[in-house]
Amino acid sequence: MSTLVFAHHIDGSFPKGVLEACSYGKKTGAEVTAVTYGSPSDEELNKLAAHGASKVLKASAVTDPDEGQMSKLVAAAADSCGANTVICCMDLVGKAVAPRISARMKAGLVSGANALPEGDGIRKPVFSGKAFATERVTTAKKVINLIPNSIPVEASDAAAAVEEFSAEVGSRRITVKDTKKRSGSIALPEAELVVSAGRGLKGPENWGMVEELADLLGAATACSRPVADIGWRPHHEHVGQTGVAIRPNLYIAIGISGAIQHLAGVNQSKVMVVVNTDSEAPFFKAADYGVVGDAFEVVPKLTAAIKAFKG
Ligand code: FAD
Repeated sequence: MSTLVFAHHIDGSFPKGVLEACSYGKKTGAEVTAVTYGSPSDEELNKLAAHGASKVLKASAVTDPDEGQMSKLVAAAADSCGANTVICCMDLVGKAVAPRISARMKAGLVSGANALPEGDGIRKPVFSGKAFATERVTTAKKVINLIPNSIPVEASDAAAAVEEFSAEVGSRRITVKDTKKRSGSIALPEAELVVSAGRGLKGPENWGMVEELADLLGAATACSRPVADIGWRPHHEHVGQTGVAIRPNLYIAIGISGAIQHLAGVNQSKVMVVVNTDSEAPFFKAADYGVVGDAFEVVPKLTAAIKAFKG
């Protein structure tokens, strides 16, 4: 059984979800090859091996591919190494590339898998995480698009066996005219600690206390969807079913009701702490620790207590 992981990168760094895809492939018991492009450093390439890829195919000549070129590269690599399964990380890139790979390879696609295969079925959440469906792929080849933060990553100290790979991927069909990069903040999908707030905060002017708490903890900031929709916070902070899915060690939710669509993206957190004035808020049912209280009183006290603890 041979499995290929598509290892896309951001300026040479592999996102955690790509490493997770390598671990996922390894856990299925398959021989895992990863395919990447451009020139990630040896240190980055070794991360793929450390997470389960026994071989890395590197297409150095493909420097800045668009999604169409990526799918051509992956299909060629799958052909070359005889892979019957391709795994992608279902972030923005994976969402655009996996269906293209699936069409190109005439392979069935499981979009949004969040668990290892059981028999010939693969589980995925449906109805906003209220239920699970098990999908069986009946084609000989399959593509699995894995929701980031679905399984824990495990690293060894293995180094990558890198092979140069060449494929005809054609020319770019998408032109990127402008890119605005975020700086300073911790990337949400990778964060181990997250402080998040919702409509209970009343307005954007009140986020100072959330940012102060996050800075103190070294945490990323997040928010509920309406907060991003009304423009109180940037869209990249929106977590949940239609936002970023996270799996931090600690998730602090302030003034968030805990609607099912919000929980769908955060309920894999190891420990959830909820601050809400309404003791009937649904979030309390999912929380490990709950404070029934006003965020404007509780958060400053929490911040002061952490400051005192840190000395
Ligand atoms: P509210 O529901 O208004 O809750 C605010 C909470 O703050 C209340 O529980 C209230 O008791 C509490 N509160 C008020 N004042 C205070 C105070 N002073 N101190 C402490 N607590 C206070 N939502 C997401 O978040 N992510 C998604 O990905 C997402 N996807 C969706 C997809 C679909 C198809 C649909 C239909 C909805 C989706 N939603 C999503 C919206 C979701 O259903 C909820 O409407 C949303 O999560 C509610 O946001 P909220 O908890 O910030 O606001």
